Amino acid sequence: MKILELGRVGEKWTIQHRCTAWGNGYGGCNALLEIEYDDLRFYEGQEFPWRVSKPAVCFKCPCCGKTTDLDINDWPPEYTNLPKWTSEWSATRPSSEAY
Ligand SMILES: [Zn+2]
Repeated sequence: MKILELGRVGEKWTIQHRCTAWGNGYGGCNALLEIEYDDLRFYEGQEFPWRVSKPAVCFKCPCCGKTTDLDINDWPPEYTNLPKWTSEWSATRPSSEAY
């Protein structure tokens, strides 16, 4: 059998997105990034006495280190299997950045 066009099975999920720091205070560096599944973190959301923060899927820019939330329409399938967002992950500066 000949594959004329690949189906979605095994297809690598990627998305192109600019670093906007949307949902995280804004002020991203506007770098255009191709994001892979492994670059994403899933934030489960949290309830504080004063507000509720909703679940989010986010990536961290390798240029400026800021976190950008994806629009819910851009979330990958099986996003609940993504590694969990942690404050340590968020606080770690990108390794490419010179101190
Ligand atoms: Zn950036």
